[in-house]
Amino acid sequence: MRTFLRDALLKGKATVAAPAPDGVALEEVARALAERARRRLGRSLSIREVDAGSCNGCELEIHALNNPVYDVERFGLKFVASPRHADVLMVTGPVTWNMREALLRTYDATPAPKWVVAVGDCAVDCGVFAGSPAIVGRLADILPVDLHVGGCPPPPIEMVKGLLALMEAPVLPR
Ligand code: SF4
Repeated sequence: MRTFLRDALLKGKATVAAPAPDGVALEEVARALAERARRRLGRSLSIREVDAGSCNGCELEIHALNNPVYDVERFGLKFVASPRHADVLMVTGPVTWNMREALLRTYDATPAPKWVVAVGDCAVDCGVFAGSPAIVGRLADILPVDLHVGGCPPPPIEMVKGLLALMEAPVLPR
């Protein structure tokens, strides 16, 4: 304990400063996304997040979209509690056996038109969990995926850019 206290006093902070978000770029992309969503859906975009077995790293970045720095709700992008209110299912993690059924039910409960977005390397190709007996596989093995956002974890702006690409895609959502 004495050693710990001495180290804490002598070595200073163990944390590092967070990288500054690119406010101008985010604002530009989020405004464009909100405008496309309104044009395409006639209203703002609603997102239901599903953790299918992630380490929670991706969730921390998704939560950042709602924090006072990013605050995407000011552009009309909403995270909703029920899949019945969602346009987009944002799924993280490889799909675990424990979450497979819940994920399928969530997909079925989401009204058409709907898009499915795989967020993070684990959802894209199982990432660091590849080969684990606890997982069924990547998200695309379970559901039709409309967009992959890679990264471990992907930064918030990449998620917003991916959603913008979805809204601009000519293909209709399911
Ligand atoms: S992609 Fe990285 S941060 Fe996201 S769930 Fe997998 S290990 Fe965690």
